[in-house]
Amino acid sequence: MISIVVPCYNEEATIPLFYQEMEKVHQEIADEFEYIFVNDGSKDKTLEVLRNLAKEDPKQVRYISFSRNFGKEAGLLAGLEAATGELVTVMDADLQDPPELLPQMIAMLAADPELDCVGTRRGDREGEPVIRSFFAKQFYKLINKIGQTEMIDGARDFRLMTRQMVDAILELKEHNRFSKGLFSWVGFKTEYLSFENRERVAGTTSWSFWQLFNYSIDGIINFSDAPLNIASFVGFFTCLVSGIAMIFIVARALLYGDPTSGWPSMVSIFLFVGGLQLMCLGIIGKYIGKIFLETKNRPDYIIKETEKTAKK
Ligand code: UDP
Ligand code: MG
Repeated sequence: MISIVVPCYNEEATIPLFYQEMEKVHQEIADEFEYIFVNDGSKDKTLEVLRNLAKEDPKQVRYISFSRNFGKEAGLLAGLEAATGELVTVMDADLQDPPELLPQMIAMLAADPELDCVGTRRGDREGEPVIRSFFAKQFYKLINKIGQTEMIDGARDFRLMTRQMVDAILELKEHNRFSKGLFSWVGFKTEYLSFENRERVAGTTSWSFWQLFNYSIDGIINFSDAPLNIASFVGFFTCLVSGIAMIFIVARALLYGDPTSGWPSMVSIFLFVGGLQLMCLGIIGKYIGKIFLETKNRPDYIIKETEKTAKK
């Protein structure tokens, strides 16, 4: 059986289309399907759409509805935890992950017993704002340079995994979840299929540039301690330079007297060093914030309704 995990946030328009396309693909393959839709606190009629779908196709469709919006990562986690299939795939509801690829992915897994996962990556970033592409590229360059976990540029969350790999991912109990990193961290043999980028069929993207920026900072903080090292290094370097400068200034004052000029340069140095300290504190604060959230040990999501508890 194949479990299909679909996180949904305000996807009332796309879910029926998604289901239709998937069922077309389903007719080509013999395997059993299990859909797990996760309604991530949508503000539109997503939940009603899911209720109806589960009524129409009770054998295949399951859903989980959160008590509020917990974010895509929480949705993914809930879906993976609920999945019971031998193979599990993760897909977006907006058909930006082409269902037609699924048979090929299943065939690849079946053909190579060594393979644990077939991932997908988009070939290009066409149709995306230039600034966004630029920052995305820089992010992948940076994280691969300073992080210990490899992250593939353009890799989507759309992937087909074996039960063994899914169990490994669920073993990771951290609350600050950055899936792209987790998928890669657990290891296993993964091959990537490329496909052309496509637009979502309906609805709008729920990510603003600022959200994506914050998400990338999360990725860096969760998978690398390089910023801490950089902060220490910068601090050490500034100390060294100001030490040398101090010796130079004292020596000059002793030799040539002490004219009371030069306060603008003094103020600039104060501001510079003050700024550096604040920046380093900020970096440290980011990590402490993460520790704070981890130690509170709150659940990653709260379920309000599933297909089993729905009122008839
Ligand atoms: N999503 C979610 N919770 C959120 C935001 C997004 O479950 O808070 C889902 C959304 O419904 C979609 C997938 O995550 O199935 C990807 O979101 P979207 O298409 O908006 O992102 P993009 O493809 O533009 O990166
Ligand atoms: Mg999308």
